[in-house]
Amino acid sequence: MDMFDQIAEMGHERVLVCSNPEVGLRAIIAVHSTVLGPGLGGVRMWPFKSFEEAMTDVLRLSRGMTYKAAAAGLNLGGGKAVIIGDPKLDKSEALFRAFGRYVESLDGLYITAEDVGTDMEDMEVILTESQWVTGKSPVRGGSGDPSPVTAHGVLQGIKAAVRWHYGNPDLSGRSVAIQGLGSVGYHLAEYLEAEGAKLLGCDIDRERVARARDDLGLEPVPLDDILEVECDVLAPCALGAILDNSTIPRLRCQIVAGAANNQMANEDRDGRTLFERGILYAPDFMINAGGLINVYNELGGEYNRERALRMTRTIYLNLMRAFEVSKAESVPTNEAADRVAEERIATIGRLGSRHWGRFISPEAPAAAR
Ligand code: NAD
Repeated sequence: MDMFDQIAEMGHERVLVCSNPEVGLRAIIAVHSTVLGPGLGGVRMWPFKSFEEAMTDVLRLSRGMTYKAAAAGLNLGGGKAVIIGDPKLDKSEALFRAFGRYVESLDGLYITAEDVGTDMEDMEVILTESQWVTGKSPVRGGSGDPSPVTAHGVLQGIKAAVRWHYGNPDLSGRSVAIQGLGSVGYHLAEYLEAEGAKLLGCDIDRERVARARDDLGLEPVPLDDILEVECDVLAPCALGAILDNSTIPRLRCQIVAGAANNQMANEDRDGRTLFERGILYAPDFMINAGGLINVYNELGGEYNRERALRMTRTIYLNLMRAFEVSKAESVPTNEAADRVAEERIATIGRLGSRHWGRFISPEAPAAAR
């Protein structure tokens, strides 16, 4: 599809192509929606093979952020940026400063943060050129590592799903299989252990499995068996696209609720298959919103982790709402979550927004122009 058609179809408000050949900057900032607030989303650095590939990704990711922020109840829109380059080879102070100038030029319409290929040090450099940076280091009053907050949000989501499916949110004795015991997965395992859940799990890193086994009593599961293990909850906390035509028929869980982004290979097809199989799916962008809620708490005041953790508890209610819509309208939960987000954007959008344009009286009737 032609790039302009793609932008028009997805409804982006603004797309900024950033070029500075002197420092090797080739980047795109996409602001999908500012109806609810500034478009917040990380900047991804990746060796995209072409400009078109980078554009397709940034358009898709920025729209995803609009839905995520809206469904989380935040006063944020959706944005995202990509820098074309190899994060291992192409980083420099000048590159991130040049990028920061583009961010600043949008005057708060876009707020950047860390993403795949960028880190807190890069944010520090961008900060020298733009105030519109979040996910800063705690020494600058920032929120630091988001993973404990994300894990806390996933715990709320698991409780909501268990409540919906079994009629009671109590996790004691419930079995949860965690795929990936990294930053989020391990914190999640700690929370679940404190709730009395029975833990199963795997990771390609054997030391991480051993730590969870020794410290939390987790029962290790072979990597290839994790999706087929019998359990109440499967919590994907590693990779995306693990749910597809070949894996969904093999699942032996009642609920899928984990932190990983883009868990389905094909949203429409796989969401429906899960729905038809009666497996309750906690939409990924709703259940893993704790990271976004965490950086949101940096904006407009001093960051406070207690407040961020408290806010992540709304994930429980947000998921309950999606499950209700799914039941009432007989649609898969991922589709229901989209509807919840769209409804909020439409409702709040009707209140008016500073981005609607200036209120100047036209000098001629519309028909005459
Ligand atoms: P991480 O890199 O710290 O942990 C991922 C873990 O998965 C690692 O321990 C890795 O060894 C393991 N892993 C990789 N491939 C695997 C496989 N095939 N089988 C089993 N384990 C495997 O990442 P993270 O920050 O914990 O994030 C986990 C997921 O959650 C990612 O999809 C991420 O996009 C998503 N997420 C994270 C946050 C956050 O706050 N960190 C927020 C929202 C979403």
